[in-house]
Amino acid sequence: MAVLRAILVLILLVLLCGCGSVTRRPDIDDVEVAAEAGRMYEMVVGRDQVMLKRLSDLSTPLLIGNADLCGDRTRFIIAMAVHNLDDYRGRRRDAMESVYEMDERIRVTLVGREGPAHVAGLREDDIVLAVNDIETPRGLAASAFFKLHVAPLVEAGKPIKFTLLRKAQRITALVQPVLACDYPVRLQDNGEVNAYATGTSIVIFSGLMNAFSGDELGVVVAHEMAHNLMGHREKKTLELWKDIYISRILDGATRTNAGSIYGNFAYLDSSQDFEYEADYVGLYLAARAGLEFERAPEFLRKLALDSPASINRGSTHPKLAARYVAQEAAIAEIHKKTALGQPLIPEMKIDTAEKKPTMKDGWAPVGVGLGLGR
Ligand SMILES: [Zn+2]
Repeated sequence: MAVLRAILVLILLVLLCGCGSVTRRPDIDDVEVAAEAGRMYEMVVGRDQVMLKRLSDLSTPLLIGNADLCGDRTRFIIAMAVHNLDDYRGRRRDAMESVYEMDERIRVTLVGREGPAHVAGLREDDIVLAVNDIETPRGLAASAFFKLHVAPLVEAGKPIKFTLLRKAQRITALVQPVLACDYPVRLQDNGEVNAYATGTSIVIFSGLMNAFSGDELGVVVAHEMAHNLMGHREKKTLELWKDIYISRILDGATRTNAGSIYGNFAYLDSSQDFEYEADYVGLYLAARAGLEFERAPEFLRKLALDSPASINRGSTHPKLAARYVAQEAAIAEIHKKTALGQPLIPEMKIDTAEKKPTMKDGWAPVGVGLGLGR
């Protein structure tokens, strides 16, 4: 009871003592605050658009240039995205209207570098007036039109005629869809310098895009794509279960945590193997896409500056110094093959005791790329 009384007295004291701030807060005009919020949203929308453009420019050659390695998990794409104002809500909608003067008409918002739409001459901000001579509807109906009439043409690989309006000029472009690896590359709004592969798609954090430029970023996308191609996620899950199983048995047999320690090491070891493999295969994918793959080791040096502890110590990833040396060796291998005019295909392990791995064994089936982007 005495304690309760003491707490009540304390609460009363806090309420009575006027412990708030002592300086005067400047008068804030709500209208000015709203205007500033609008400007900030405009900045976010502008930044997102720049990031999406960079990402689609890097991803398009990677997805198209490596279609032959993706087995039957490929799809036709034209590597462009179209939107109108009805695709956005709230503040983002306001910002799209004020920054890009977007309206109810369908317009091209992204064209992936060297993709079919880009090759045919389509550019960002073109207004789509008609598709195969059928006038595109405005407003909410536009989305359904593209889904029902344009997407099936892309999927079937049929050429599509676009009638466009560019700065008051009417132009036409015939776009021929091409096969590409079926991996959507997504941008995630997250300040962390990171990226990951889900097994069927690739996720790049905005923090990574801020930290790295041009083709360095392309090599990261290629590395994540390699994780998907090699089926690392599925294998990792299997390894994890296997390690948990063995470590439980070891723990039980020795009545210590030796099994758990083994499990941890075994898991990290296989994880490091996958990272080396993703680095190696990723360099081939980047080289085949015409990216400056030689810049990959530089990326590791930047990571070293960011995280000196990782230079000589590995965990889920191998230590940076070892990755650097391994990447240099892979680059030398690619240069040698290029000089000899040999095809750029990663070297696969061949165990003569077992059946020879086919490309399909090595390259895990996957699918879906930068399609229509709606
Ligand atoms: Zn990785």
